[in-house]
Amino acid sequence: MKRQLKSFFVVLVTLGLICGSLQSLPVYAGEPGTQSQDEAEQAAEQQELPVEQPAEQQDDTPRLARDIVVVLDPGHGGSDTGATRGSYVERDLALSIAYYCKEELEKYPGVTVYMTRWDNTSPCMGRDDRVEYAWNKGADLLVSLHLNATGSASTTVSGSEVYYPNYNYNSMMGSLGYRASSSILTQLGGLGLSNNGCKIRNSADGSVYFNGTISDYLGINYWSKLKGIPGVLVEHAYINNADDRAKYLSTQEQLKALGVADATGIMNYFYDNSDAYIVHTGSWEHNSAGWWYQRQDMTYPWGQWESIDGYWFYFDGRGYLCTGWKQLNDKWYYLGNHGAMIEGWHRVGANWYYLTWGDGAMATGWVNSDGKWYYLTPGNGNMKTGWLKEGNLWYYLLPGNGDMAVGWHRIGSKWYHFDTSGVMNTGWYEADGKWYYSYASGAMAANTWVDGYRLGADGAWLP
Ligand SMILES: [Zn+2]
Repeated sequence: MKRQLKSFFVVLVTLGLICGSLQSLPVYAGEPGTQSQDEAEQAAEQQELPVEQPAEQQDDTPRLARDIVVVLDPGHGGSDTGATRGSYVERDLALSIAYYCKEELEKYPGVTVYMTRWDNTSPCMGRDDRVEYAWNKGADLLVSLHLNATGSASTTVSGSEVYYPNYNYNSMMGSLGYRASSSILTQLGGLGLSNNGCKIRNSADGSVYFNGTISDYLGINYWSKLKGIPGVLVEHAYINNADDRAKYLSTQEQLKALGVADATGIMNYFYDNSDAYIVHTGSWEHNSAGWWYQRQDMTYPWGQWESIDGYWFYFDGRGYLCTGWKQLNDKWYYLGNHGAMIEGWHRVGANWYYLTWGDGAMATGWVNSDGKWYYLTPGNGNMKTGWLKEGNLWYYLLPGNGDMAVGWHRIGSKWYHFDTSGVMNTGWYEADGKWYYSYASGAMAANTWVDGYRLGADGAWLP
């Protein structure tokens, strides 16, 4: 049902663009006699609707699940003009597009729109401040509006692209961002702009998120991810492409068409995605001393664990995010170099550690992981390799991966045999249907007589 309503809506919008007036639509949509009875029935069947629909259902329009807040971020501002080409200034054009987009969005009931700047003279806020502003407004979506340019005076490159957050750290923001971007691009494509695709731009300088994954390069993508808001950046057209300028950037009508296309794409995104309605839980904040987390109710965690964006974090007594090793209640945890609590195998320096799945506590002693046994040294948690003696029993942890040895292993110049529980065999024992003898050192006897029995070159008893 939702899909049908949406297609109906798209038809309405498309017609609206053609007719230039939404008032004419109900007449057109309800107009009979434009198709044969058979066609009408076929169409109705495809839509799985009764042939005779109640009139009010036909007029139904898509509805928002709840009121939404959209924050528009017209690119650049003040002395930052963005890209320019003659009298075409990205800063000014982006503001016009933003106003048209806002005007269009506000035609929809339940939509509140804010902009990160309202004129061309105010200085451009920092990217994190613009995202902070969006978060304070309760944004469900942040859309930054730009025009593209290549490095040269003119170019044959043309069309639109939208940058959305990568899927690292908070994959939901990547997923929602992609869907919003795709929806906007579809509308811009409808104006004739070539669709250059939804794009991710990763940081190139090694910057990472709290879990150590590569961060987004663009501030709008990056900071909004840390606020739990999908933030996308629309490059509408190329300001240094003569064709793009003539067709899309030369008149107020053209700029309005861009703004309306953005708005339509934004609204379709909300209609199509029940998960696009953001529940604000809190936001990452930082200063020169470190990171902290501000909850929605303006409190913040200090001296405690907090689950954020699917990861566990620990905040010190002042509320700053802790990183690295942390001892709490006689247990050690590794919070990662970037803060997120690590679970499973992790190498720190030259040593491997095992942080228990579920609670992150550093394991000591024997641990089974993926069906194999490992030994974590009591006291420091280092993964043990080589010989291990427990009571009278010897074990061997394979160099390199720490796997507990089972069965035959050649260590140095000698052969050793370990039973299924990893215990080194000594004396007589049976393996693979044959009898062997190992000395007290564990080394297998071969080419010799023991207790009157002859052992062959491979160590097996020769009856
Ligand atoms: Zn720009």
